[in-house]
Amino acid sequence: MSLRIAEHAERSDTGRVRSANEDSFLARPPLFVVADGMGGANAGEVASRTAIDGFAGGLPAGSGPSDRLVEAVLAANSAIHRDAGSNESRRGMGTTVTAALVGDGSVDIAHVGDSRAYLIRGGSIERLTRDHTLVDELVRQGRLTEEEAATHPQRSIITRALGPEPDVEVDSTSHQLEEGDVLLLCSDGLTGMVPDPVLLSTVEESRNLSVAARSLVRKANEAGGRDNITVVLVRMAAAVPGLPQTRPVSSRGSTGGAAAARRRVPRSAKLAGAAAALVLAVLLAGSWQASRGVFFLGVDDSGVVAVYRGVPFELPFGIDLYERWYASGVPVSTVDPARRATLLDHSLRSRTDAADLVASLERGDLRQ
Ligand code: MG
Repeated sequence: MSLRIAEHAERSDTGRVRSANEDSFLARPPLFVVADGMGGANAGEVASRTAIDGFAGGLPAGSGPSDRLVEAVLAANSAIHRDAGSNESRRGMGTTVTAALVGDGSVDIAHVGDSRAYLIRGGSIERLTRDHTLVDELVRQGRLTEEEAATHPQRSIITRALGPEPDVEVDSTSHQLEEGDVLLLCSDGLTGMVPDPVLLSTVEESRNLSVAARSLVRKANEAGGRDNITVVLVRMAAAVPGLPQTRPVSSRGSTGGAAAARRRVPRSAKLAGAAAALVLAVLLAGSWQASRGVFFLGVDDSGVVAVYRGVPFELPFGIDLYERWYASGVPVSTVDPARRATLLDHSLRSRTDAADLVASLERGDLRQ
């Protein structure tokens, strides 16, 4: 099945013990990366930032997604190693990296260290990476149980990282994705504090991924927050070529959406210029049908950007001239305020324009 990234959310927090946040992350759909730096002074922060900057510059050309990811990780390793070798205060610095490149129906992952990738699907959570730690090695050898490993005093000793050596072995895996899947990338400041079943229930019980990311960080802090906490969440939905998919909305949900829109959609006083003229024309013509061909962007009751069909106007007696046509996966809180003002001004748009705008938002192109 052809899939699209319907929603993603990120959060990084210093935690309750550390004085600085040495984690870094990148969320640039379809690429998502978490890096957890280590080293004296602020060297850990430099290492994780260097890794992320390497990805932010774009993936190297390569034969396939997994090759390109691995090349990027190797390049980051070289850059960090060189920097550490030429700067006394950064000697020995390193970072983990867990990078996910989402494709059409699958995800490729490149991984070094003890950050993690999980796949949440249909009420279960599966770890997609293995920790490069001393205790994980002992678990694989049968010398420790998972339970013992979870509380082992040496559990944070990692056996592989970017930076310390001129070369590094990179784990590379590929996984099929399905509609509704949620990918979770995170640093060990989350997984060291919050057990897997709670990761699962928190994501499943949250109304969107922004809420889930905040809840996960809060739970890690409530459990002690002993390390920096970074969470990246990505949700997949079915794609419709050229247009965002209209999600099935139950009749109850429809009503809720319209009621919510009524609270948020400005009255006619806010309509300006051509939009007002068009509304007037539509009203004068008394043609409800005419309004079916125009669309505008707004925010629905759950706080996500939505496309409404019709005109942003209400007649007396609570008769709306619009209905929610499509709810995106994009929480409005993730859209830059300046961008918000122009996107969500209720300008009337063609269906294609409205759909293209929302698709761009969902790809992450228009957030900043
Ligand atoms: Mg950490």
